[in-house]
Amino acid sequence: MAKGEITINELRCKGCGICAHVCARGVLRWPSDKLTPNGYLLPAFVAMDRCNACQVCGWMCPDHAIEVYRFAEAAASKR
Ligand code: SF4
Ligand code: SF4
Repeated sequence: MAKGEITINELRCKGCGICAHVCARGVLRWPSDKLTPNGYLLPAFVAMDRCNACQVCGWMCPDHAIEVYRFAEAAASKR
């Protein structure tokens, strides 16, 4: 089950593929067949359900194009 998700700002992305390379969980694949508005090849989200919100992709993106969101715990355990 996903522990988080990411978004990519297509106006910032320069299509380097680093995010896909560093994601150890195979969430991203680069390249996709989609271009940014500036003509760079975007990564594809191929397994967002595997994202654990580790933030590595966000830290490594040289263009600060990635936002990582960590999901809140679904429910607190009953006492
Ligand atoms: S936050 Fe971590 S697991 Fe999620 S896409 Fe980025 S590198 Fe992969
Ligand atoms: S690391 Fe950043 S600039 Fe490079 S492909 Fe991923 S989102 Fe785009």
